Amino acid sequence: MSATIIDGKAYAAGLRARIATQVEPFKAAAGRAPGLAVVLVGEDAASSVYVRSKGRATREAGMESFEHRLSADIDQATLMALVAALNADPAVDGILVQLPLPAHLDAQAVIQAIDPDKDVDGFHPVNAGRLATGLPGFVPCTPLGCLMLLRDVHGTLAGLDAVVVGRSNIVGKPMAQLLLQESCTVTIAHSRTRDLPAKVRAADIVVAAVGIPKLIEGGWIKPGATVIDVGINRTETGLVGDVDFEGARAVAGAITPVPGGVGPMTIAVLLRNTLVSAGRRMGVSIDE
Ligand code: NDP
Repeated sequence: MSATIIDGKAYAAGLRARIATQVEPFKAAAGRAPGLAVVLVGEDAASSVYVRSKGRATREAGMESFEHRLSADIDQATLMALVAALNADPAVDGILVQLPLPAHLDAQAVIQAIDPDKDVDGFHPVNAGRLATGLPGFVPCTPLGCLMLLRDVHGTLAGLDAVVVGRSNIVGKPMAQLLLQESCTVTIAHSRTRDLPAKVRAADIVVAAVGIPKLIEGGWIKPGATVIDVGINRTETGLVGDVDFEGARAVAGAITPVPGGVGPMTIAVLLRNTLVSAGRRMGVSIDE
């Protein structure tokens, strides 16, 4: 039997529609639209595409998009001054600095300069700490999107064995924290993990966030498991995930495709985080 294909594109469209319906009541209560500021430094092709689609999605949801495009040779002080101005701007509910930054800039210092209560990317150490301790804050968009898909498949996740392959600050670690919060038993695997196939074979939930095409083989998957493939790898044959999709779909219970799985969730959750931020800042109740 072949796995159910998890339609992240359709789920994300539904989430965006639910967000859009809450924007009008927010505007009526707050007297303005929720606002998201996106900062792009330099001309990186992939980053430009992401920033353009974030701006478009923000406007489509009825929110205000403030786009700041800075030249690649901008200095740290100028970038920090822009972040300070956005922190102080009452029309801005969310601030996102598109990564990666050019090598001469200190990305960690920029992230730490963002007001944690406007950090809709959830990368600030204060928000990482809030997530780890169960306090309300902002959770990085990609792992939160993965969790929404997993909840949609399983309902409750309590007691399930989960393996997260990858331990980055933006995907792997927050994903593991979210699964722990859902009462999964979580294994975090990385490049130094011994016998990765055995770790994957033991898991009811597999989240792959590595960046190596088809690293996870179909034969490693436990029959009936749910597989969430975060990987986006550009290859000669097009976009490929971190999981061998054809091999895994023959054994898994449910699996996300690449593209059309996790990818579309990221922007939808960014809009959700921006609306939630606007609601918290203006004292307007938002259905999260
Ligand atoms: P990073 O490069 O920051 O992290 C990769 C992780 O994979 C590291 O923790 C690394 O381990 C681990 N790893 C590397 N090789 C192996 C291996 N052979 N076995 C097990 N683990 C290994 O990547 P990101 O977390 O930023 O992104 C991961 C993937 O997700 C990428 O393909 C990226 O493009 C994609 N992505 C997709 C998004 C979306 O919207 N769908 C958003 C963000 C990312 P170690 O720590 O030991 O080096």
